[in-house]
Amino acid sequence: MSDNTIPYKIYLNEEEMPKAWYNLRADMKNKPAPLLNPGTGQPLSAEELSPIFCEELVKQELDETTPFIDIPEEIRSFYKMYRPSPLVRAYCLEEKLGTPARIYYKFEGNNTSGSHKLNSAIAQAYYAKKQGLKGVTTETGAGQWGTALSMACSYFDLDCKVYMVKVSYEQKPFRREVMRTYGASVVPSPSDTTEIGKKILAEFPGTTGSLGCAISEAVEVATKNPGYRYVLGSVLNQVLLHQSVIGLETKTALDKYDIHPDVIIGCAGGGSNLGGLIAPFMGEKLRGEADYRIIAVEPASCPSFTRGTFAYDFCDTGMICPLAKMYTLGSSFIPSANHAGGLRFHGMSSTLSQLYHDGYMEAVSVEQTSVFEAATQFARTEGILPAPESSHAIRVAIDEALKCKETGEEKTIVFGLTGTGYFDLVAYQKYNDGEMSDYIPTDEDIAASIAKLPKVNA
Ligand SMILES: *Cc1c(COP(=O)(O)O)cnc(C)c1O
Repeated sequence: MSDNTIPYKIYLNEEEMPKAWYNLRADMKNKPAPLLNPGTGQPLSAEELSPIFCEELVKQELDETTPFIDIPEEIRSFYKMYRPSPLVRAYCLEEKLGTPARIYYKFEGNNTSGSHKLNSAIAQAYYAKKQGLKGVTTETGAGQWGTALSMACSYFDLDCKVYMVKVSYEQKPFRREVMRTYGASVVPSPSDTTEIGKKILAEFPGTTGSLGCAISEAVEVATKNPGYRYVLGSVLNQVLLHQSVIGLETKTALDKYDIHPDVIIGCAGGGSNLGGLIAPFMGEKLRGEADYRIIAVEPASCPSFTRGTFAYDFCDTGMICPLAKMYTLGSSFIPSANHAGGLRFHGMSSTLSQLYHDGYMEAVSVEQTSVFEAATQFARTEGILPAPESSHAIRVAIDEALKCKETGEEKTIVFGLTGTGYFDLVAYQKYNDGEMSDYIPTDEDIAASIAKLPKVNA
């Protein structure tokens, strides 16, 4: 197909939108390792998970055989409010770079929460409502997940309690107000509303909090209050499942114009957008039907894939959550304070970890100044102000396109543009003022937290 027949934006009509999510694990020969009970070291059963998570979500979490899981009608209706998301041909960026490569990006920032996280938030809220629950609890760091969940809960009339890391609560008042506008209660963590919060406050007065502590508070509140469950916005299999809507739409849009991507690129924090974007393509790869280069991009300051260890570890700093086998830097690893670009989780989805371990995908790490350089170039050519997280993928897409310029190869590159950066302007300000620096952890830094991995015979 000649290029001038491909529109700037490939949209799907409502009939072409996915009716089922795709469960990538069904096509994996080496399944991701199960979540373990940290007390017993045994795989967690549905009964053990159900006081924490909604029943239907526990089923999805543990299901590694059903390839397609129907998207309930109510969720499909909600998706129709802001989906399908456009697959955009980056004609302007290609021209600016002078590359023969064809670049496409799937833009997930077209909703008020500003990221792909709403795709899973609405599903999790739906199952909580269907189970007759009163509400859900969660933690949020930078605030994208809390915002998405607040929107989803207000749609289904559920109570939503968000434990927001105190430093973000104070530094990102606008995110907090968006959540409150959607009816969520937002508590700075650590707080005196939980036992664990009180304990941490007594031990470390004046602490500005951490994601691990906020998780511990949210889980405590969910398990102590009848009618509440805890929900999480990344890392888990159920979240990757819901995010497969990104990849399924992308695949349908590409197929419509007979486009075959050579390279698929996504940023990786806990792995949910990347897992969702690549799902149908990785499925073809696993079944031997097609081949693609798949690249995960992570910050050099938090390099779980490229410098982590493949082992069982806690998902949270508080060490109360289940153990997951994943590429990890150790649950006590904290990216350096000058890190502004998001994607600061110490571990990685166990599904993506297994695929990376088995050689089905690559990973690269990039430094934040080069990420913001790419973000700025993208904003100035394609118009969209990208989230710093998304800009990791932009960086590598540009690098791949520049390689094509050297070799003359007309590769097709697809990347995930996960969100917008309007709430990240403090980070942009640092970059614009020339005050942003890079910090790459030393081998000793990483070895120190790896040394604290839990001992598991698995
Ligand atoms: C949360 C977030 C990410 C990283 O999370 P994943 O689970 O790795 O996808 C990336 N981009 C944006 C905009 C986010 O909000």
